[in-house]
Amino acid sequence: MFKKLLALGAVTSLLFTGCSAGNIANAGQQKSDKLSIVCTLFPEYDWTKEILGEQAQNANLTYLLSSGLDLHNYQPSAKDMITISDCDLFIYVGGESESWVDDALKEVTNPDMKVIRLMDVIGDSAKEEEVKEGMETEPEEEEEDEEEPEYDEHVWLSVKNAGILCNAICDTLCEIQPEQKDVYQANLNAYTEKLNQLDKEFSDMAEASSVKTVVFADRFPFRYLVDDYNIDYYAAFVGCSAETEASFETVAFLAKKLDELHLDTVFTIENADNAIANAVISSTESKNQQIAALNSMQSVNSDDIANGASYLTIMQNNLTVLKEALN
Ligand SMILES: [Zn+2]
Repeated sequence: MFKKLLALGAVTSLLFTGCSAGNIANAGQQKSDKLSIVCTLFPEYDWTKEILGEQAQNANLTYLLSSGLDLHNYQPSAKDMITISDCDLFIYVGGESESWVDDALKEVTNPDMKVIRLMDVIGDSAKEEEVKEGMETEPEEEEEDEEEPEYDEHVWLSVKNAGILCNAICDTLCEIQPEQKDVYQANLNAYTEKLNQLDKEFSDMAEASSVKTVVFADRFPFRYLVDDYNIDYYAAFVGCSAETEASFETVAFLAKKLDELHLDTVFTIENADNAIANAVISSTESKNQQIAALNSMQSVNSDDIANGASYLTIMQNNLTVLKEALN
């Protein structure tokens, strides 16, 4: 607690000096006319870059999680807070792992800042977090049943949602820079075509596959993806779970599902240590399933980006992995 208070104090005072330094600089010179955009999550960053196209050179586009820190573990640094407070456009998901955003937005110094919250854009299509048969439940969650429903925040993992979200980003960019409207709209149209093509490939894959169920020995952020193509799932934990250990019951349940459905693949998400997957496999009858990972894009880092990672390449890779496993 003490440590936390100290850290907060540091943020406040840095913000204060940050602002006054900014004001002094502005007195002598115009504020940089580069558009400043801050994104919390990789897909937001990548989509914005696509819509900006060549105009990205004239923008300061910040991806807050570029260190590769998982969305669920990220807290803004004092420097991040300053970047956010003064930007022209702030894009965030707005789910349970970004509860820090409310406080950050109280420190905003730019009165013209536009904010896009993906959960608001998706609106009624946001799904309630599902605790499915066999899942490990966290003790607090069981007591929370009187409270408001928790929504599944992983909306970017539906390619169909991606199209809707890109539209919203394009609309807001056009509001900020109406003179670039035609450019942004053309970039959006070209990108939307690629998203539609990918959506069709997922759809064809799901239709052609003999297996219609995935088993995740991990947390499960992919509900928006599997629901789009009528693929069923079982998983050890809900999407945002911080659990890393599964009980005997959960391991046994998942192993039984693999046996019953004759599945040859156990899924994990990116950066998994495979401990639960291996435990599940050794509890099955055949004990010879393979492990495959789908990337939920919650810890894409700047090296990945330098190596060409994009929403499309990562989802294309997820498609290839699913195609092979469900064949
Ligand atoms: Zn999450």
